[in-house]
Amino acid sequence: MKAIVFDFDGTLTKSKKGSNCWYKIWEYIDDLAYDEMLYNMFKKKFIDNDKWFELIFKRYKEKAVKREYLEDIANSIELLPGAYQTLKQLHNNGVKIFVLSGGVRQIIESVLKREEVDNFITSIEAYDLIFDESGKLVGYSQPNLHSLERKEEYVEQIKTQYGLKSKDILFVGNGSNDETVYKSGVKTLCINPDDADITNRKYWTYGIENCNNLTQILEYCDLDKHL
Ligand SMILES: [Mg+2]
Repeated sequence: MKAIVFDFDGTLTKSKKGSNCWYKIWEYIDDLAYDEMLYNMFKKKFIDNDKWFELIFKRYKEKAVKREYLEDIANSIELLPGAYQTLKQLHNNGVKIFVLSGGVRQIIESVLKREEVDNFITSIEAYDLIFDESGKLVGYSQPNLHSLERKEEYVEQIKTQYGLKSKDILFVGNGSNDETVYKSGVKTLCINPDDADITNRKYWTYGIENCNNLTQILEYCDLDKHL
């Protein structure tokens, strides 16, 4: 195996169901009812994904979300036990490690840095929140929005960019938004399912219903050596 692509929320992290980066921001600003309302509008197809994001940021700005909130939130997020050991072992075996998340880059980077695993990771794809000099939220960027909605496209990009074949790559995820990755032809591993259907063998090559320690994934990684 030459590369592994991890989802972040609930895959690399300990997380209660539905509690992703965005949820944690809503929780922090004590506005979960508004989050729920927007989600229902999206679910009923009153708004599309772009409009949904536009409304999220409008509300965040009204609520004066600040950069420091993301630090506090990052501090509340724990990686799954064994994450350091697992990522180090993959890295030492020459496996390129990618993080592909529909969450917030600053939160993800902060957690990975704190846990000293950032150096093992080749790149992170996620949403960027943009703050001004005073730390006030002014915007967001989503350079690969459509890849984040269709994660298989990002996996295709990795294949092209690094000259890899489908069989060289394992994707690890836990959500329904990870269930299109199989279309890229790579092997997929579902761990600690949030809203993913772990029993669906079309979407998921493998599954670990209760992954209490990330080292449990190593048996699916086909490593040459165990360093
Ligand atoms: Mg997830």
